[in-house]
Amino acid sequence: MICQACNTENPDQAKFCMGCGDALQNLCADCGTELPNGAKFCFSCGAKVGDPAPTPATASTPTPTPAEAPQTATESAALDRLAQYVPKELLS
Ligand SMILES: [Zn+2]
Ligand SMILES: [Zn+2]
Repeated sequence: MICQACNTENPDQAKFCMGCGDALQNLCADCGTELPNGAKFCFSCGAKVGDPAPTPATASTPTPTPAEAPQTATESAALDRLAQYVPKELLS
């Protein structure tokens, strides 16, 4: 079995490449099932094998941004409360 990464010829029962240490087994990236060499799709879950995992085709749902709190209002309110206890000179 020839390593696809470095072209080193490895024994058929090799699980890892002698040349580069890459995994030689054809494992389904999705479910981990060991697949025969040359399998293009996983016989267990149907996932495509051999290609780098495609980006999940989940619809890009925009993360709901929390309603922007009126920061300035709460801030000034806090400052007002603070001013009751702290001398004004410290609140520059
Ligand atoms: Zn290799
Ligand atoms: Zn699978």
